[in-house]
Amino acid sequence: MIALDHHPTGRHFLQIPGPSPVPDRILRAMSLPTIDHRGPEFAALGLKVLAGLRQVFQTRHPVVVYPASGTGAWEAALANTLSPGDAVLMYETGHFASLWKKMAERLGLQPEFLAKAGTDADTGLPLAWRHGVQADMLAERLRRDREHAIKAVCVVHNETSTGVTSDIAAVRRAIDDAGHPALLLVDTISGLASADYRHDEWGVDVTISGSQKGLMLPPGISFNAVSPKALAASRQARLPKSFWAWDEIIEMNRGGYWPYTPNTNLLYGLSESLDMLLGQGLPAVFARHRRWGEGVRAAVRAWGLPIQCADAAVYSPVLTGVVTPAGVDADALRRLIHERFDLSLGTGLGRIKGRMFRIGHLGDCNDLTLMAALSGVEMGLKLSGIALAGSGVQAAMDFFSAHPQPVPLADAA
Ligand code: PLP
Repeated sequence: MIALDHHPTGRHFLQIPGPSPVPDRILRAMSLPTIDHRGPEFAALGLKVLAGLRQVFQTRHPVVVYPASGTGAWEAALANTLSPGDAVLMYETGHFASLWKKMAERLGLQPEFLAKAGTDADTGLPLAWRHGVQADMLAERLRRDREHAIKAVCVVHNETSTGVTSDIAAVRRAIDDAGHPALLLVDTISGLASADYRHDEWGVDVTISGSQKGLMLPPGISFNAVSPKALAASRQARLPKSFWAWDEIIEMNRGGYWPYTPNTNLLYGLSESLDMLLGQGLPAVFARHRRWGEGVRAAVRAWGLPIQCADAAVYSPVLTGVVTPAGVDADALRRLIHERFDLSLGTGLGRIKGRMFRIGHLGDCNDLTLMAALSGVEMGLKLSGIALAGSGVQAAMDFFSAHPQPVPLADAA
């Protein structure tokens, strides 16, 4: 237990936007003995989690589970649906959209990266990293593609590097308004089971997600929800695929099994997580995260610091990006807070590294966990000599007191 030795007393505060803190109930479920993955008990577990996942993705169609991190499920989505040299339209919302584009290039696809141009006058940060997908830009580009060379549109629903969400229903409308047949591939690795997400209703062809965020599991499994159109495309697609290929997995899943050794103990955890989420009801889960986001943003506003997301219509319910004043190294601030208060905050990534930090409000949290995290941040900001407009801790206390938790705490346990 090397890494844990330095925590002297109490719990570490893991307030990064995933991996999120795992509830004890899930950790206990994962500690059950590993069973035969070809045996009868396993099939019951397999069928249960596959049915529950369909509810969480809000789909009637198959959800494929991989023993891989989210990056694997990104690759699976591209490899199953596309062929070498295919043009794909991607949209720059932040670091994860940029990494997915890099992957598309490495796989031999031809991604085109749209982005909101320019930098912000206040902060000097790229506008593309402060706003969500501009669906009208996608529609305009697709209308010009009269030959239908573009085979897929790829967007990130909850951009974890910035705390900005995108309106996926609007992206669907943009594709339809342009009369374009491209597939719609959506990464909701950090949005699923925290932010509202509707695979079928929004007409998404492949939804990519992972275990370590809203599902409150450790990292290690990831998902592709697959529409009938995507499944049909996978039969023609020529990018090499074997481990990621949907056909054999979906076939064996019918009986509750996988063609390879699945991640048994993570599936125990997933089964428990699904009981918790579906037992509480998805609307309550979404409301809980929205409320936490509002409380944290009340604190950031009171400090007088800019929120990375510049558009109030698309604030993430999962995390809040906080921009530090010019000349303040956000990573030095994070280090100080970690050393002094045993609190982990998310680092700035890619083009905004050092300019901001991220507060996760997901997983096994409650109002007081968040209050403690905000106290750590406020102390750290003051210790770093940053002049604050006021107390964010007081503002968040006021917010949480004035807006009671919509679900009784006992039910959320
Ligand atoms: N996409 C998004 C939006 C993410 O937040 C992450 C990870 O944080 C990834 C992709 C990559 O997933 P992983 O690190 O599990 O491979």
